Amino acid sequence: MANPAAAKPEQRCITPVCGAVYAIHERVYLCSKCGGPLEVDCHVSAIRDREALRKSWESRASSRAPRDISGVWRYRELLPFNDSAPFVTLFEGNTPIYDAPQSAKYCGLDALRLKHQGCNPTGSFKDTGMCIAVTQAVVLGARTVVCASTGNTAASLAAYAARAGLQPAILLPRGQITAAKLAQSMDYGALVCEIDGNFDDCMRLIQELGDDPSIYVANSINPFRIEGQKTVAFEMMNQRNWQTPDHVVVPGGNMGNSSALGKGFEELLGLGLIDHLPKLSVIQAEGASPLARLFAKLPARDAQPESPLPDVLEFEDHPRTLATAIKIGAPVSWKKALRAVMRSGGKILSVSEQEIADAKAMIGRDGIGCEPASATTVAGIKKLVAAGHIRRAESVVAVLTGHVLKDPDYVSAYHRGTLALESAGAEPLPIHGSFRNAPRRVEASKSAILKVLEPQR
Ligand SMILES: *Cc1c(COP(=O)(O)O)cnc(C)c1O
Repeated sequence: MANPAAAKPEQRCITPVCGAVYAIHERVYLCSKCGGPLEVDCHVSAIRDREALRKSWESRASSRAPRDISGVWRYRELLPFNDSAPFVTLFEGNTPIYDAPQSAKYCGLDALRLKHQGCNPTGSFKDTGMCIAVTQAVVLGARTVVCASTGNTAASLAAYAARAGLQPAILLPRGQITAAKLAQSMDYGALVCEIDGNFDDCMRLIQELGDDPSIYVANSINPFRIEGQKTVAFEMMNQRNWQTPDHVVVPGGNMGNSSALGKGFEELLGLGLIDHLPKLSVIQAEGASPLARLFAKLPARDAQPESPLPDVLEFEDHPRTLATAIKIGAPVSWKKALRAVMRSGGKILSVSEQEIADAKAMIGRDGIGCEPASATTVAGIKKLVAAGHIRRAESVVAVLTGHVLKDPDYVSAYHRGTLALESAGAEPLPIHGSFRNAPRRVEASKSAILKVLEPQR
């Protein structure tokens, strides 16, 4: 089925007073008139036959065609490509929604569901966006795809670029990314440039590189990545038989994920496939929480809050958190995310290092596991339940963003009781292993093992 929307997709500046429009094949990363971020508009609400759409999505789940198997390309009517475009896939998406009874109890809920985006091909949700961004790079005739990254974006970009026959190149601040993520990027053949500088230096270099026509930039600001990531909302609703949960909760770093989910749910609402928005809440780590701080200062508003927001989001402190995937002081997509949260009636809050670590261990006890950044969700839900924003019997879906093996050093240190947040010029902040589970040294005999097992039998 061709994209049934009437008008051609286009790119548009999200700044309300600007609204400049660019053709879908124009290579722009930011609005050339006002410098604002861009958004892809697929004119989704012009689609009339939503039942036919829903049926074809559902029937593709049992098809063997690669474009149907992919949990992103399956929703192609709402993506900015026509049917003859090349498509890059590693069969991303199709991630499970788990029941998590231990975590539910920990949060004070009757039930809690965890949608595990760590079950994507490279172990994080970044894959759902990267298949689309790398496809756009192919369409534009680029030879090299670059990004600056806290790790998972790099691993994902490397895999998808390799898959498409393009050269992946990544810029990383030296010594700032987990060994597992760096190892993935090397294995997928990326040119890994360790920059003697910080993340901001990498970002500046990327912007300069973006002027070269053979290079395509797939950073968080890239609106095509958001298009892929929004399909997580479609897949979640498809899996839930189109029953909207009361709350959806996600971690917030650069805020691409929260923006994308917000866009996905709005498009479903525009199509009439859902009849209201779930309340979208975003959780940050306390040491990297610029948007949570801003949100706390905003006056409480009921609906359609359109009062002016500051132009720039500043975070006075140097970002500090062991959840490296969300260690970001100046999130690029904060305006889109804030808009989505406010329209839906959700919250933005922060959680401590201790709360993240304990929530992560609890998710592990459900047999699920995730990387530290993902566990902000369960920690945040616990606080939102305590504050009365989420009620015990409400339906809640948390999005886990990355796989537990992305940061095994953290997991091991927590369970051995040696986890601490180190930072220059300050005492290390020790993190208590409340649900600690360290290996035990046991003599090589049956009786010794049975003795250790005794309390659990
Ligand atoms: C990228 C990432 C995040 C943050 O997502 P944003 O879109 O930057 O808010 C959270 N968790 C994991 C595991 C990630 O890789």
